[in-house]
Amino acid sequence: MNNHNVSVEFPNLPARLGGLADLAENLWWSWNPAARMLFKMIDRQAWKASVHNPDKMLRDLPREVLEAAAKKTDYIRYYDLVMSRYRKYMANRLCSLFPDADNPSQVTIAYFSAEYGLHRSLPFYAGGLGFLAGDFIKECSDLSVPLIAVGFMYPEGYVNQRISESGWQENISIQLDRNQAAISKVFDGNGNHLIVQVPVVDPPIYVAVWKVDVGRVPLYLLDTDIEENDPWNRGISARLYIGDLEQRLRQEIVLGIGGMEVLEALHVKHSIVHLNEGHAAFALLERLRDRLQNGFSQEEAFTNVRQTTVFTTHTPVPAGHDVFPFPLMDKYFRDFWPSLQMDRDTFLNLGVHPDEPNKGFNMTAFALRLSGYRNGVSKKHGEVANRMWQGLWAGEEKEGDTIDFVTNGVHVPTWIEPKMELLFNKYLGPDWQADHDNPYLWELIDEIPDEELWKTHIWLKIKLFNVIRERARQRWTNDRSHPSVALACGTLLDPSVLTIGFARRFATYKRADLILQDAERLGKLLGRQNQPIQIVFAGKAHPADDPGKIMLQKIFNAARNPDFNGRIAFVEDYGEQIAQYLVHGVDVWLNNPLSPMEACGTSGMKASLNGVPQCSIPDGWWLEAYNGENGWSFDGGHTEGSRDKIDADLLYQVLEEKIIPLYYQVDEYGIPSGWVRVMKHAIKSTAAQFSARRMVREYVEKFYSKAARFTTEVA
Ligand SMILES: *Cc1c(COP(=O)(O)O)cnc(C)c1O
Repeated sequence: MNNHNVSVEFPNLPARLGGLADLAENLWWSWNPAARMLFKMIDRQAWKASVHNPDKMLRDLPREVLEAAAKKTDYIRYYDLVMSRYRKYMANRLCSLFPDADNPSQVTIAYFSAEYGLHRSLPFYAGGLGFLAGDFIKECSDLSVPLIAVGFMYPEGYVNQRISESGWQENISIQLDRNQAAISKVFDGNGNHLIVQVPVVDPPIYVAVWKVDVGRVPLYLLDTDIEENDPWNRGISARLYIGDLEQRLRQEIVLGIGGMEVLEALHVKHSIVHLNEGHAAFALLERLRDRLQNGFSQEEAFTNVRQTTVFTTHTPVPAGHDVFPFPLMDKYFRDFWPSLQMDRDTFLNLGVHPDEPNKGFNMTAFALRLSGYRNGVSKKHGEVANRMWQGLWAGEEKEGDTIDFVTNGVHVPTWIEPKMELLFNKYLGPDWQADHDNPYLWELIDEIPDEELWKTHIWLKIKLFNVIRERARQRWTNDRSHPSVALACGTLLDPSVLTIGFARRFATYKRADLILQDAERLGKLLGRQNQPIQIVFAGKAHPADDPGKIMLQKIFNAARNPDFNGRIAFVEDYGEQIAQYLVHGVDVWLNNPLSPMEACGTSGMKASLNGVPQCSIPDGWWLEAYNGENGWSFDGGHTEGSRDKIDADLLYQVLEEKIIPLYYQVDEYGIPSGWVRVMKHAIKSTAAQFSARRMVREYVEKFYSKAARFTTEVA
């Protein structure tokens, strides 16, 4: 598509293994176990030390080690096989999903997101929104959907979490080394690092452009940390979701308006814009301006932008929608509205929510008005979003739902555990991945003997506990921390005990502490002689969210409290890596948000796919997935009064009456066959339906293929 990318040098790499340089620079390896194995086989210790980052490993390894690998025939055979698969994958650009478009080769979607959760080595995410975006673009790559992605280079990421002895979340600052990850510079025509000026903003802001290759999808990252910028501007892309409102506004100007300018500088033609949440919505102002400059009337410009813009809203939580006060908008957009042939009021009204007209410019309201295709991320969330935003269309609402929905899904190759994948290869056939969104395929799960599925699960559980204990040991050794901290980090976990996992961002609506409501009742469940339970927690609070940090402290202190029998653990620094181990290795995945605040939820899908059933409040995706056999659902309904108490009581009840007895009921071979049945139902009912493949196909059918009919020469 463009030839700006110059491969980064790995000086120690022998020519015979030259392909590893290409492989390391494309995240394709991250969802292909055979490719990861290719790196691991060179040197297991170095692979581990790099935290599974080929780019870093190839830089750090001495030449002798790489040359030794190049001389081993079995390694070379394997190398040639994986490289040929990679080349074949990259060469296949045919997408069969746009049969209706006049000229399918003209369709390109520009996808904008403030975060991308792709791999542990790239700290460009905070939580679910990022993983959704990451899984989305990986699946677009697998399906050859012609998409390019735009995001931020955040050198400080989100939060690196360490819990103090008093249980308080501390943030440690870790700078990303841009040379030690699968990120490459994008160069301009003169061979210099491409730098673009954000249009209209004065004083000027410059962004440097980087690229991550996500299979066939290029992800362009904007970086303001360059010499051309003054210190305030340099900090714009320092980390995700900066608390300061003005800096946040500047962030969103850079992402939306700067992002469009970057695509233009790269001569990347695109015809559809998809906004993943409202942070990048200013991109639509650039689209309007472009059209007006190309001779469209104002009405034509608006119509055409709407016809070619998709907007996905992701949360009913009010704090999840940015609203910028009008004086701030004046400061940055005073020169912009004349270029749209608008006066101040008309311009600002584009972002006014009629229920709160004085609050400011609401990014979601703006994006909804300017997008012809809008959706929430589950059936329930679609309904909730319609209620939330119906004021926007007062009087001019068209027939049918104003906000549609596409339920989220997870990228199966990313989230399936490799041992589980081998088991599926054996019983679903070696080609199951190619057909994984076919529901009939998953009926074959019943072919797996209970014992084999159970043994695989126990193996993954032990692997999880080994990882947790290793982290606790390092904390104990490196930090000289108090012994109770090492215990709270999971030293006492027992693989024979029923293990509940709870891991997500510590936003208060997710109610991480719900299970602690009745400490005595919980203490009894944890302290039973027979059939005890244990709980593993993980998650980060936003640095500005003190209620979230207090909730976290409560849990950490419970983990340190001997009254809870050493059966509560808190794992620090939740991120992609720990998420992988947890969703593969616990026995039950717990989800208890205050409904209807969880728009969808995706971690439970990752768990279910691996045979870890979910126990959840009926909210988000669980309302579509729960069928009475694939997990558990508990709910106090919308009773007024103490919903936390009611929900907690129901949670204890489902644990006491259903989950615990079923788990410990084993046959003469030690297999809990009733439990394994639930595991199988969990896999069968989620693997196809809640895959990113099903999701991406739906976006193409519902939105992209329609928008493709209205594309013009203008971006
Ligand atoms: C999947 C995932 C999430 C999102 O999980 P929810 O269930 O939507 O809260 C957040 N963080 C990480 C690290 C994940 O892998």
